[in-house]
Amino acid sequence: MSTVRTLEPGSRHDLRVGISPDAPDEDKVKDEEGSFGYCHSYETSSRYDGPGLRIVIFVSGCLLRCTYCHNPDTWHLKDGTYVSVDQVLRRLGEFAPALRSLGGGLTISGGEPMVQLAFTRRIFAAARQMGLHTAIETSGFLGDRADASYLSEIDLVLLDIKSSDPATYKRVTGRDLAPTLRFAERLASVSKPAWVRFTLVPGETDDPQNVDGIARFVAPMKNVEWVEVQPLHQMGSFKWKSMGLEYKHANTPSPNRDLVNRVIEQFRAAGCQVR
Ligand code: SF4
Repeated sequence: MSTVRTLEPGSRHDLRVGISPDAPDEDKVKDEEGSFGYCHSYETSSRYDGPGLRIVIFVSGCLLRCTYCHNPDTWHLKDGTYVSVDQVLRRLGEFAPALRSLGGGLTISGGEPMVQLAFTRRIFAAARQMGLHTAIETSGFLGDRADASYLSEIDLVLLDIKSSDPATYKRVTGRDLAPTLRFAERLASVSKPAWVRFTLVPGETDDPQNVDGIARFVAPMKNVEWVEVQPLHQMGSFKWKSMGLEYKHANTPSPNRDLVNRVIEQFRAAGCQVR
């Protein structure tokens, strides 16, 4: 049984490992109540993870293993801090008045928020009751777990589409592409506002056909407000080294301006709003 601790503020770039060694594996979560959960950290002043000023909670657990992941210390629950949902909500309540007045809200990222479905559901529901805008950042791989009531607690989905090509997606994430596309189509069918995020990794995801495939898939979706092209950065590479993991992209450069512009133009040419 993991020890209940206090969730400390921090940054997505902090390394946090081995805090809850008795935690279950991330594919064996049983949190029907959602009274407790595992979190990496939270940030209080993000302007990138949804509209306005955001508090962002990074929850632990992810079933993907992206080759360029900058937070491998969120993959396993055992690396997270075991906290009560009551403590999380007390902390959120302290920030709620400021977030409301600044037109911001709560974003839950990770890791993958849908690994701990009941825990994140309770946080979203309480945030809505506090009058906060809510957003989830997700790969969509576990989108089938999100029933209509879960989605009803979320105002905006930040959906990471890592590839349009099943073979590339498998190579990059270790998992199948189909659940993500299925989730994206479902979001479109219920007009759930979404921002699509695409991580541009030279030599990995930058193939023009791969980019075109995402652009053509997303362009007809009226619920998608933006496509965000996110260039690879190396701020998480030290985590791979510290955790004894082999980092494939240790020497991969960030994409240069020409490559970023080419990809942005591909999205624009398909009819997407890009930034
Ligand atoms: S989905 Fe996100 S947290 Fe999970 S491995 Fe990929 S980049 Fe990392």
